[in-house]
Amino acid sequence: MTPSRTISARSARAGHLLLVILIPGLLLAATWYAPGMSNAERAITPDEALKQLLEGNQRYIDGQMRSHDHTADRKKLATGQSPSVIILRCADSRVAPEIIFDQNLGELFVCGVAGNTPTTEIVASMEYAVSVLGSCVIVVMGHSSCGALDAAIDNFDDVDELPGNLPTLVSRFLPAVMEAKEKDGDLLTNAIRVNALMSAEQLPRMSTILQQAVKKGELKVVGGVYDLSTGRFTLVD
Ligand SMILES: [Zn+2]
Repeated sequence: MTPSRTISARSARAGHLLLVILIPGLLLAATWYAPGMSNAERAITPDEALKQLLEGNQRYIDGQMRSHDHTADRKKLATGQSPSVIILRCADSRVAPEIIFDQNLGELFVCGVAGNTPTTEIVASMEYAVSVLGSCVIVVMGHSSCGALDAAIDNFDDVDELPGNLPTLVSRFLPAVMEAKEKDGDLLTNAIRVNALMSAEQLPRMSTILQQAVKKGELKVVGGVYDLSTGRFTLVD
């Protein structure tokens, strides 16, 4: 084989290898960025999904929760999922969305971080849920007595003094605390409300995918606060 043929054969093999790598990658990317389901394609509209979620919260408050057959649900869901609702929750152990909203396995796509603030990784997870799984509502779920907001209030002037990675997280809540300081009433309660609302407003600004879905009416983003004592989740506006 002449040197040029050798190079040409190597190039062909390299080209083939490139295609083998690229084609599945492109297909995956196409799946990722496929537009979300239209309201007609999905079995439920954003308003209906939100209504069902709030009805579940009322059942939880009333102690009338549905019985859940986790064994049957687990088997049914092993091959796929299509959760209508995405929840951005706090990491707090008392805030368990499936229980609070009386939902089955596979019904909620739950993202969590202390203080329920949208990080880049959380927004990417939501983009997947909206684009691929057909989720149509995002609920930012703040809660009463949230330690993350409390830490931001207590360390408002010296966040950087906090240990470990806490300064990065807690500094995210300073704008909400600042706005809450302008309001009458309890500072922590107001900061929790403002943070939930700010996070909900921030989400479409952090993602073209989410923004376009909102514009088309295929996605609704709301914020609210869960009361640890009464069990009630109340939307904030
Ligand atoms: Zn919290």
